[in-house]
Amino acid sequence: MDKKQRELDTLKKKIIRDNICPGLKAQATQLVFGDGSPDSNVVFIGEAPGKNEDLKGLPFVGAAGKFLDEMLETIGLKRTDVYITNIVKYRPPGNRDPLPEEKKAFLPYLRAQLEIIKPKLIVTLGRHSMNCFLPDLQISAIHGQPKRVTIASDKLKGGMKVVIMPLFHPAAALYNGQMRSTLIEDFSLIPSVIEKLSKQGKN
Ligand code: URA
Repeated sequence: MDKKQRELDTLKKKIIRDNICPGLKAQATQLVFGDGSPDSNVVFIGEAPGKNEDLKGLPFVGAAGKFLDEMLETIGLKRTDVYITNIVKYRPPGNRDPLPEEKKAFLPYLRAQLEIIKPKLIVTLGRHSMNCFLPDLQISAIHGQPKRVTIASDKLKGGMKVVIMPLFHPAAALYNGQMRSTLIEDFSLIPSVIEKLSKQGKN
């Protein structure tokens, strides 16, 4: 097995062992850790699993996930070409928004997940995910605008330098025509950001 996948499996076990958010854990079917390729340069981050994700143990496999898959296809990508995860890795009951303390509890593990994958581009889906990396900005003002950030890291000297592409959440955009068109438009900008980053990587 790939080294990164082994490290991710170990991290997944650590979340369970560390008993993160025991209240959420008790109500959830299982931990929803991530899906896709750990070797990808692109990571998509949502909020938290919903009902379908909780049952299947995979992120973005319900209606929002189907929409995400369709948008990936429009830019020539499959789920297996990218890595997909959430901030909070247990389903909040009744699909409520994740609480600030739940996001805070999972953040070190999300950072550890990113330290293993080392993506160049992080596409945040929705304001919760965006605010993990860009806490003071409004998604309505900066969606579709790539931002360079340095994510604090205990392991990597100088932190992790990545580009964040903030997008609206596909679930929010599913039944809102205007937001849906904006999300599709923002999504279409991803290939040029990837191309730019891969050129920079070669220098
Ligand atoms: N919404 C999310 O934010 N994540 C999922 O995995 C599914 C729906």
